Amino acid sequence: MINIAKPIIGDEEKQAVMEVLDSGIIAQGPRVKAFEEAFAQMCATRYAIATSSGTTALHVALLANKIGPGDEIITSAFTFIASANSALYVGARPVFVDIDPKTYNLDPSKIEAAITPRTKAIMPVHLFGLCCDMDAITAIAKKHNLIIIEDACQSHGAVCNGRKAGSFGTGAFSLYPTKNITSGEGGMITTNSDEIDESCRVIRQHGMRRRYYHDELGFNFRMTDIHAAIGLAQLGKLQTYNKKRQQNATFLNAHLKGVTVPYTPPGFEHVYHQYTVRVPDGRRDALREYLKEQEIGSEVYYPVPIHKQSFYVRQLGYHDYLPETEKAAAEVLSLPVHPSLTQSDLEKIVQAVNTFMGKG
Ligand SMILES: *Cc1c(COP(=O)(O)O)cnc(C)c1O
Repeated sequence: MINIAKPIIGDEEKQAVMEVLDSGIIAQGPRVKAFEEAFAQMCATRYAIATSSGTTALHVALLANKIGPGDEIITSAFTFIASANSALYVGARPVFVDIDPKTYNLDPSKIEAAITPRTKAIMPVHLFGLCCDMDAITAIAKKHNLIIIEDACQSHGAVCNGRKAGSFGTGAFSLYPTKNITSGEGGMITTNSDEIDESCRVIRQHGMRRRYYHDELGFNFRMTDIHAAIGLAQLGKLQTYNKKRQQNATFLNAHLKGVTVPYTPPGFEHVYHQYTVRVPDGRRDALREYLKEQEIGSEVYYPVPIHKQSFYVRQLGYHDYLPETEKAAAEVLSLPVHPSLTQSDLEKIVQAVNTFMGKG
């Protein structure tokens, strides 16, 4: 079976965990600090703040930016549920804008029509490892005085015109096992702002600046040193992993037939968290079945856009029509692209897809 994702945990990660266990400092400690510093360096941001997950990173990022009840956040509905749910956690309302059908990311030309007096932030989601058009989004945010919260949970190391994902506003990353690097579970917030950095640290730890004095409502969203040790070891390999993903994608781009392969705009570096193709003529689910018979894993990210999720429809009353989002949800299929694939795995994937599409 060729799996759709495969975390690579080696001796370095195991050794690092054993060292933490032997050190006696298991909860948030020196490894978390070292991981934060290395992560900030990777993103070229001044600060990085570790959290317990990508979801809590988004939650804290919104709170630190003082986004709350009555505020609207413009984002994509073609993403994992946590992007929009983080807005709900702080009492804000996610407002969905349609995607660009080529990149699957927020279409900047449709953002301004969604801005209202309540709009406080734009949350670009850098889906599948490709940054949103951050030049256009940054210009809109500046013009309308809006905050940028990047959902960078799928885009560790991705580049848009020389700048890394997570360096355009407040960034939120996930370190879940299927992501480009993992800490087991975990998240990271990135920022260049002193105030946001400090606020994130306070919110992460019970609203506490001085031990057992609580100035505001906070949470326990800390990362443990055990997780940080794994994450730190993984971070050292991010570039190698991403390069391998890119090489795998280059091979698939060159050889797959009958499906629309991923698009990378000029000036962007795609890190292929997922390698997502578009399957024409309503054949997506049948291709997926066929690949399963050939022992090739694939997955649909995401079959139901957020504005169509029953909780959003029934409880929150969403009834948007987002044609490109809905079309993508019906046509996309992600194929294995992870760094552990062998040349024969890649050839097997190509052979299977091309045979099914009648192009073998
Ligand atoms: C994975 C992911 C999240 C949530 O991260 P967790 O670490 O699973 O909490 C949020 N947004 C996107 C786009 C993701 O892919």
